[in-house]
Amino acid sequence: MKPLLAAVLLFLASAAAAAGRMPPPRAGERVLILAPHPDDETLCCAGYISESVRAGAMVSIVWLTSGDGYKRDAIEVFDTLFPGPAEFRKLGAMRMDEARAAAATLGVAPRDVYFLGYPDGGLLRLFDENYLRPLRSATTAWDAVGYGAAYRPGAPYTGLALKKLLSRIFRQVRPDLILLPLLSDEHPDHLATSLFGKDVAAGLGLSGRVCGWVVHSGYDWPSPQGFYPDYPLTAPGANYHWLSFRLSKKDEALKKAAVSAYKTQMLTMRRFLLSFVRENELFSCDGGVW
Ligand SMILES: [Zn+2]
Repeated sequence: MKPLLAAVLLFLASAAAAAGRMPPPRAGERVLILAPHPDDETLCCAGYISESVRAGAMVSIVWLTSGDGYKRDAIEVFDTLFPGPAEFRKLGAMRMDEARAAAATLGVAPRDVYFLGYPDGGLLRLFDENYLRPLRSATTAWDAVGYGAAYRPGAPYTGLALKKLLSRIFRQVRPDLILLPLLSDEHPDHLATSLFGKDVAAGLGLSGRVCGWVVHSGYDWPSPQGFYPDYPLTAPGANYHWLSFRLSKKDEALKKAAVSAYKTQMLTMRRFLLSFVRENELFSCDGGVW
């Protein structure tokens, strides 16, 4: 091994070791994951999910959007320079199918997955200017949930309606642990998911059960980009106390399989997606105060 590469690996390993350890899931525990888009649950948490299922915990996943606003992906998938509402709606349906396959790969039961079908790229506006007035999606042209397979078809694209749906699911699942994006995640939909999720958790007295994760943090994180399953996932920023969850080789293989279920995403973001298949996952559990 070249000395420089060895030094880099040693640095990465020591950075990971500096994190605390995420407590392992327990039998009977109820884990609820909020994912802004189909694929986030796998990128952040696939190892924790499969280990939870194996330990006898119950895992539920909520996707706030169906990923129907990703123009570059629609261009690739449908081989057209000008995708319209029909293509974006179809892309959303495809991504929900991929999410079902990824969840099944990780052992999550079909009854425990929830697709809210809210607009990809529009969640942050639901938190303020469209809290009461429905947003019209710039890609699907819907102003209410249009997917028949969603949790509540026809629910308006308002922040208030989204908050009510999340509240209903939180009360139904009664989570012991809620995994959602940290405020520092740089994607606006992720930030909005953090805000909505923590707001609902606080309203139900569950703030102390919230832990956060990050998927978007700078241009080249996770670094190095690409499939390096023997490398640690390094901390995306120093503002949090990170807890590391170690993946077994079996869980790494399951994570890679779940990532690969996202065929439409692998077309455009293969290196980025595979960058999350590392020997650990990182969470911050500071009681929801962040
Ligand atoms: Zn996302």
